[in-house]
Amino acid sequence: MLYTFVPVLLLRTLIAGSALSIVVACAAEPITPITQATPSQPTTTITEVKPDKPAEAEPEQQSFAEWRAAFRNEALQAGISALVFDRAFAGITPDPSIITADRSQPEFTRPVWQYLDGALSQQRVDGGKRLLSQHRATLDGIEARYGVDRNTLVAIWGLESSFGQIMGDKDVIRSLATLAHEGRRPGFAKSQLLAALEILEHGDVAAGQLRGSWAGAMGQTQFIPTTYNTHAVDFDGDGRRDIWSSSADALASAAHYLQASGWKAGQPWGFEVSLPEGFDYAMADSSIRKPLAEWRQLSLNGLPAGMDEASASLLLPAGYRGPAFLVLDNFRAILRYNNSSSYALAIGLLSERFDGAGKVRASWPQGEQPLSRSERLELQERLSNQGFDPGAADGIIGANTRNAIRSFQQQLGWPADGHPTQELLGRLRAEP
Ligand code: CA
Repeated sequence: MLYTFVPVLLLRTLIAGSALSIVVACAAEPITPITQATPSQPTTTITEVKPDKPAEAEPEQQSFAEWRAAFRNEALQAGISALVFDRAFAGITPDPSIITADRSQPEFTRPVWQYLDGALSQQRVDGGKRLLSQHRATLDGIEARYGVDRNTLVAIWGLESSFGQIMGDKDVIRSLATLAHEGRRPGFAKSQLLAALEILEHGDVAAGQLRGSWAGAMGQTQFIPTTYNTHAVDFDGDGRRDIWSSSADALASAAHYLQASGWKAGQPWGFEVSLPEGFDYAMADSSIRKPLAEWRQLSLNGLPAGMDEASASLLLPAGYRGPAFLVLDNFRAILRYNNSSSYALAIGLLSERFDGAGKVRASWPQGEQPLSRSERLELQERLSNQGFDPGAADGIIGANTRNAIRSFQQQLGWPADGHPTQELLGRLRAEP
């Protein structure tokens, strides 16, 4: 998942995001979280971190053949050889299933606790434990080179591709060409398509082997092509960066990406805390970072000793009625992989489950039903009508919407956690 500007390290390094659909996780299915900024992956759950950002403008309607001819010129100018381009595009036609996936805007989302149940299934925990043992020597080498915790790498491997079992089998060139021609974010798709052609130009993999998800996330790490080009590594020494069939290359590539995203060796991702009576929930915002020493002075319980200087944010994944976590730089590094706090929380907890820990102590507000997409749109419209500024009504609860919710909560004298609830929407409906 890295997207490059979006979160995906796999794609996920990007930012924009689309609402993807939720798939119920079955046994071996990779779990992808919530909303991300980039089209990373197909399965999404919750709604999150997406920026309140408008979609790209609709491109002019052009036939696929016309688009391809124009794009060929662009690719050749960018340094792709005619031979590589023509081989990659031989017989390529648009794939309607990609457009269906790209336009899918699921109405309902799973609550975070249900997402975590799927992500932290016993099967995934057991699989990770077994692979940690089986790949011990490789992981020793990767930890020594990149300084990134092995449990986190195996957790990412487990959520991205069910440890390499489910990587997506779509032709990446065809998927990205389809999205560049008529997807919702054609500019992003085109940059990924150029990056995919660069992969072929470089010769790490043959055209027919460039396979991935509908959005172009590839291999055991689900890297998008730009992330592959900047961060994939050949760790097993065969001369090719093969994140599809070499687990060593895939795990090391993920480690390289996390290292570049600011991973701090020896620090935890974060930990669960409990908050004192009368706590100001407006401090639970990813934009607010304080040293642990300052959080300690606010009477939070559950902080470990030491790390006073470590920079932490307070995360309330289900609002003030649910569990609270202080999250550190390594949580933010995981967000660079996939810009969803539910995803990053799942990775952190799963990495601990491999060692028998990672249980959440506080209870989740299981009686709360997350807002549907149409309810989120309504919430944004109503906040806007009341003079708040939730950003464009796009159904995505980003920073602007959270701030608008907080302002309304403060006006009501409610806990200002910025979390959208049915109760809040009901209150807005009662406004004149
Ligand atoms: Ca290799």
